Amino acid sequence: MKKRVLITGGAGFLGSHLCERYLKEGWKVVCMDNLITGSYNNIVHLTDNEHFQFIEFDVTNYIDLEGDLDLILHFASPASPIDYLEMPIQTLKVGSLGTHKTLGLAKAKGAKFLLASTSEVYGDPLEHPQKETYWGNVNPTGYRGVYDEAKRFAEAMTMAYHRYHGVETRIVRIFNTYGARMRLKDGRALPTFFRQAFENKPITVFGDGSQTRSFTYVDDLVEGIFRLSQSDEVEPVNIGNPEEISILEFAKEIIEITGSSSDIVFNELPADDPKIRQPDITKAKRVLKWEPLTDRREGLLKTMNYFKEQVQKSG
Ligand code: UDP
Repeated sequence: MKKRVLITGGAGFLGSHLCERYLKEGWKVVCMDNLITGSYNNIVHLTDNEHFQFIEFDVTNYIDLEGDLDLILHFASPASPIDYLEMPIQTLKVGSLGTHKTLGLAKAKGAKFLLASTSEVYGDPLEHPQKETYWGNVNPTGYRGVYDEAKRFAEAMTMAYHRYHGVETRIVRIFNTYGARMRLKDGRALPTFFRQAFENKPITVFGDGSQTRSFTYVDDLVEGIFRLSQSDEVEPVNIGNPEEISILEFAKEIIEITGSSSDIVFNELPADDPKIRQPDITKAKRVLKWEPLTDRREGLLKTMNYFKEQVQKSG
């Protein structure tokens, strides 16, 4: 008997890569998405597969799904800063009500549950690099608070279902991840810089560009999530690439890799933008025997043709 997984947000960037991975591992995959930030194009190549099913649905409502379920991966959420600025209520609802509904389904089906959490739970961190034991520094009423607090609530709800109802739960804290199927205009630094570089337009660095991020190639992230879903680890696990870079250096790297003639311009830094971010992955190494295999340069080289094509299509 094949195992069956429900992936919420399955038509999104990460969700669609997870759909592919679980199909490859011999699972039946139910992909659920309301397509507000996800896209049918991300999964259209899977729709001929008899083990793949797509359901257009908003998981903040009661979920009625027939058949057995072994695992739920809850990945539905707007996930880029401009998305949660534009959709603050949906962001809060999917992290709170959506997590409650999907946990309820896991309990009813006796399925394992894996929550997609985020490095944003650490906010603008006062500890560096960030270990899972760090409680974070989040502004609850700031613009990013709708995402950060929804994910923090989602973690609390997940642990409550584990402790009170005995649901087998897992929590992954995902750091900045990139790869094919990111939206060209999702507003995040990496797609924006690639787009601007290929159009030879100015690269918009926010602030003075001294803030740092650590970028993970999507295949590495998917491997970490797959391992976590198969593991016994209940407490949160960071999955990310610890190679840290300032945003200014990153902008220069994209210009160099693409051979662009773009300049760099400095725009205002958004409120509550974290100044530093780097995962401590000691725990993932220990409990999952996982570490990233793709360094940033290699990953950017693998990804840049995707962005080039997207720019050509949009132009
Ligand atoms: N950023 C930037 N220019 C852009 C978009 C983003 O300098 O056009 C900065 C942003 O302020 C942040 C970093 O790049 O410091 C990463 O932003 P992103 O939106 O990719 O992800 P975040 O880690 O902030 O969620």
